[in-house]
Amino acid sequence: MNPKKITTEDEKLIIDWNDNKKTRISFKDLRKNCPCATCITEREKQSKDFIRIYNQSQISIKNIEQVGSYAIKITWKDGHSTGIYEYSFLRRLSDF
Ligand SMILES: [Zn+2]
Repeated sequence: MNPKKITTEDEKLIIDWNDNKKTRISFKDLRKNCPCATCITEREKQSKDFIRIYNQSQISIKNIEQVGSYAIKITWKDGHSTGIYEYSFLRRLSDF
């Protein structure tokens, strides 16, 4: 499953997939599920009812880069850029 086109709109990542599905993921959900080791460790330490509050720079995207043919790398406005979002992962995060 690969994206044909990735765009952003209203603080959401819009992906057109090669099976003609179109999905949207909010920047906040992307940041909340950041797949980098630092964020995963941080999430594991939190209790289930912990509510993470984000400031605007943490949920604003500065740059999106393609990584090989399997993922994108998102650079956030607060400088966080270690999250590599694999296409299969983005597909699972998407609401339809
Ligand atoms: Zn992260």
